[in-house]
Amino acid sequence: MVVDIAQDVAVWAIAGVVLLVLAAIVVGVPAGLLGLVTFFVERSRAKAAKRNAERARQDQARKDLLRETQVAAETAHRAWSYRLQSMALTCPRCGKLAVPLPATPDRYGCPACNHRFVGARHDVPLPPPGP
Ligand SMILES: [Zn+2]
Repeated sequence: MVVDIAQDVAVWAIAGVVLLVLAAIVVGVPAGLLGLVTFFVERSRAKAAKRNAERARQDQARKDLLRETQVAAETAHRAWSYRLQSMALTCPRCGKLAVPLPATPDRYGCPACNHRFVGARHDVPLPPPGP
């Protein structure tokens, strides 16, 4: 009788342990897999966010450089245009303003009557690359 009870208790104890182990496997393995997947997904997202931030920074640097280059080109072109106008002479044929012909030392051209003539030395260079 005592042996039977002891055997029953042992059987139930073993069954309980087996059930606990099965429950741990049923709950633990999917949770572990989910955690693993979550870890890799999060790591991948963090890498993508870092990559995007770096690209955005490079884009902004390129835009800034382009803007600076454009501003410099506009300034150079304005200075050239001002010099061209400041060196203008009166056209001997029609009396309107004739502008220096760039890359010539002393030639002028009248936009009104298309007359070309030699005048004071101006040495206006060709225009800088446009903005
Ligand atoms: Zn003229």
